[in-house]
Amino acid sequence: MMLMDLHTHSNFSDGKNTPEEMIQTAVELGYEAVAITDHVWRTSAWVPDYAEHLEQLKAKFRGLIQVYSGIEAKVLTLDGDIDADASFRPLVDLVLGSFHRIPKPNGFYSKTSDAHIPRTEIVEHWLVSFRRMLDNPLVDIIAHPLSELKGFGIQKDQIPTKELVDHIAASGKILEINVRYNSVDEPIIQMAAEQGVPLIVSSDSHSAIDMVNNSVLVKDLSNRGFQRVDIERYIRNRKHRF
Ligand SMILES: [Zn+2]
Ligand SMILES: [Zn+2]
Repeated sequence: MMLMDLHTHSNFSDGKNTPEEMIQTAVELGYEAVAITDHVWRTSAWVPDYAEHLEQLKAKFRGLIQVYSGIEAKVLTLDGDIDADASFRPLVDLVLGSFHRIPKPNGFYSKTSDAHIPRTEIVEHWLVSFRRMLDNPLVDIIAHPLSELKGFGIQKDQIPTKELVDHIAASGKILEINVRYNSVDEPIIQMAAEQGVPLIVSSDSHSAIDMVNNSVLVKDLSNRGFQRVDIERYIRNRKHRF
C-alpha cells in the first residue's frame, strides 16, 4: 500500500511552513503521496487561491510525489453541517470533517460553563452530529475520531462504538487514524478494521519538522497494514459526483 500522509497543514492556516516546504519534506521522507489540508471556515475567501496554488505544486512535483489538495472543516451543528462553503468542494480533492468542538442545540459545549451537564447528554449530541456528518456529502474523511471527548472527561467505553462503526461502514467515508490522537488499539479503530472500513494513517503535521517526527509512526502503521485506501481511485470516483 502507498506510503502517504493525507492530513497536513501549511501557513495558509495555522501551519509553520509553506505548502511547497511540506511537499518537499514528504518527498524526502520517501512518501508517494501527500495532501495539504488547511483549516477553513465558511468565510475563508482565500480557498480558491489556495486550491490554485496547490494545482501549480501538483504540476511542479509531478513524477516525484502525488500531491492532493484538501481542506479540514469542523462540524458546526447537530445537523452535521461543516464550516466549509459548498463552493469549496469542487476546488479540492479531499475534505476532512472533524470535531474541534461538540455542537449543542444553540452553539457548542463549553468545557467550563457546561461542566454540570451530564456526560450522557454531551455524548448524545456528539453522536447525533457525528451521524449527520456521515450523511454530509461534502465530507470524505473523518479526521481524528473521538478527539474532542477526552476534554469533557468522556471515556471510550461511554460511547456506543459498535453502533457508530456500523454507521461509518455504511457511509462509505474514510476513517482516519491520526497519529497525534489515535492508537490502533482503540476499540473504534479495531472494530472499523474488522468491518473493512476504509482506513488511512495521517499525521496532522503543522510543520515540516512535525512531519519528519510523525513519519516514524506513519511508516510503522502503514507497514502494519493500516493504510488501506487506494486514494487515487477514490478521488477519481468521487469527482464524477461534482
Ligand atoms: Zn483537526
Ligand atoms: Zn488538522
